[in-house]
Amino acid sequence: MKNSVRDMSLMDVGDDNIVLFHPHVPESAVSLVQQTLTTRWIGQGPKVDEFEQKFGARFGEGRTAIAVGSGTDALHLSYILAGIEAGDEVITPVFTCAATNIPLLYQKAEIKFADVQPGTLNIDPSHVKQLISDRTKAIVCVHYGGLPCDLNELSAIAAERGIPIIEDAAHALGGTYNGKPVGSISEFSMFSFQAIKQLTTGDGGMLVLKDGSLAEKARRIRWFGIDRVAKQMGNWDNDITEIGYKYQMNDIAAAMGLSALAEFDGVLALRQKLFRRYSEQLQGTPGLQIVGDGYTDREHAAWIFTVIAEDRPGLQAKLRAHHIESNQVHYRNDRYTVFGGRRNNLPNMDAIEEKYLVLPLHPRISIEQVDKICDVIRSGW
Ligand SMILES: *Cc1c(COP(=O)(O)O)cnc(C)c1O
Repeated sequence: MKNSVRDMSLMDVGDDNIVLFHPHVPESAVSLVQQTLTTRWIGQGPKVDEFEQKFGARFGEGRTAIAVGSGTDALHLSYILAGIEAGDEVITPVFTCAATNIPLLYQKAEIKFADVQPGTLNIDPSHVKQLISDRTKAIVCVHYGGLPCDLNELSAIAAERGIPIIEDAAHALGGTYNGKPVGSISEFSMFSFQAIKQLTTGDGGMLVLKDGSLAEKARRIRWFGIDRVAKQMGNWDNDITEIGYKYQMNDIAAAMGLSALAEFDGVLALRQKLFRRYSEQLQGTPGLQIVGDGYTDREHAAWIFTVIAEDRPGLQAKLRAHHIESNQVHYRNDRYTVFGGRRNNLPNMDAIEEKYLVLPLHPRISIEQVDKICDVIRSGW
C-alpha cells in the first residue's frame, strides 16, 4: 500500500524504499484504545494514572512521573519547577531538536549554547564548565541519538553550584548510565512520545521528578493552576493562584502508552540489535565515523544511528539512488532567528555541521536491510 507522501522530501513506504522513520504502534493498542473510547474517561483519567505509575516504576526507580501532552510540555514544566525566570542563564546543547530550547524562551531565560563532544555529539562537559557563571540556573542535556551524556561530569559541575540537571531524554528511553535507567538519575528527566520516538502515544510526554514534593505543583500547572484532586473531591470553586497551562495527557494517548510499555523491552532489544549491526558493518569504512558507539559504562537506547561522513551530499545521493532515506534530523539551534540567528564559535559543532547524517533505524527495518545499507555505503560514494 502506498502512503501518500505529505512531505515531498520523503519517499513512499513500499517500492523497496527504506524509510528513515516509521511510527511503531503495537497491535494491542488498537483494542485498548477502542475499549477506552467506550468509557466515561477519554480525557485525563484512570489510564493516565496507570501509565504514570508503570512508567515511574520502570524508568524512574519509583519516582513520580507526570504525564503531559508532549515532550515540549514536560520540558516547559521542568523549567518552571527549576525556578528558571527572565534573565536567568541556562546552559543547553546547541545540537538538538528545537523543542529542547524553545520553552526556555517561554521563560525568557538567557540561553548559553554549549558545544558538542566530537565522538558522541552530546553536550561537552568541558565547555559547560567554561560557560558556568553566577547567573547559571540550570544545565540542560540531551542524550543524542539515545547515548546517555557524561552525567557524572555534568552533575559534579552542577553540584558545585547547587543547580539542577534537566535531562532531555527524548531520545533515550531505555538507556542506562552506570547501570541505572535514564529517568532515575537527575533532578528532572523528560521523555517524548511523539510519533517517531521509541514509544509513541501520537503525541505525549512524561516528566520524572527526583523531588516528589514538586509533584503537586507540577500537577497544578499542568491544569491551568487548578488543584484538580481537590476539585474532584467536590471542591469545584477552588482558587487559582498561579499561572498554569493545559498540558495534560488524555486517556486515549495513555492507552497507547500502556500497550507500548508492555512490549517495550522487545522493541528496545530490536533497536539495539540493529544499532550493533550497523556499528559492526561500518567499522573502519574510509571517510566515515560512527557516532556514540563503544561505551561500556552506559547503554545506548538506539533511537537513531548517526555517522560523520566526508562528502555528505555525495553519500546521501548514493543512498537515495538505492532507495534509502537519510537526513540530518536535527540542526544546530544557534542558526535559528528566534535564538539570535548567529552561529556561535563552537569548534566541534563547526567541524561536523556539514558531515553528520542519520540512517534508518526502527522496528520495520530488518537486519538484511541494515546489511544492504552498509553494503551500499562500503562500496564508496
Ligand atoms: C522529540 C524531542 C523532544 C520533544 O518533542 P515533542 O514533539 O514535544 O514530544 C524534545 N527534545 C528532543 C531532543 C526531541 O528529539
